[in-house]
Amino acid sequence: MFEDLKKNLENSYAPYSNFNVSSCLVTKDNNKYFGVNVENASYGGTICAERVAITKAISEGESKGNFKELHVLGTTKSMPCFICRQTFAEFFDQDVMIYIHYSNGEYTKYRMNDLCPHPFSLGD
Ligand SMILES: [Zn+2]
Repeated sequence: MFEDLKKNLENSYAPYSNFNVSSCLVTKDNNKYFGVNVENASYGGTICAERVAITKAISEGESKGNFKELHVLGTTKSMPCFICRQTFAEFFDQDVMIYIHYSNGEYTKYRMNDLCPHPFSLGD
């Protein structure tokens, strides 16, 4: 996974921050959807790598609740922002694992409910 994330990192479009991020969302049946951050001169138009991967998966017909892992690799350690965490809350079950990879190949993993313990979700 690390090598695939690293290769995908080259697709990141980050001319403003120079902070490149690559992600990969893996479904329970092992389909993989890669994403990168895509920045915009109008900063609000920027989208994070995590949300690109999720929107790709949903737009290609994957179902909410069919995800098992999300992997993230940034130029430096990159924890998901809270807009992304809100998107996780929309589509991920509480047992989805989120792997934060580092440039040396190591990673830290978190359960969805560690990153989003009290989500605002459909029931709210
Ligand atoms: Zn984000």
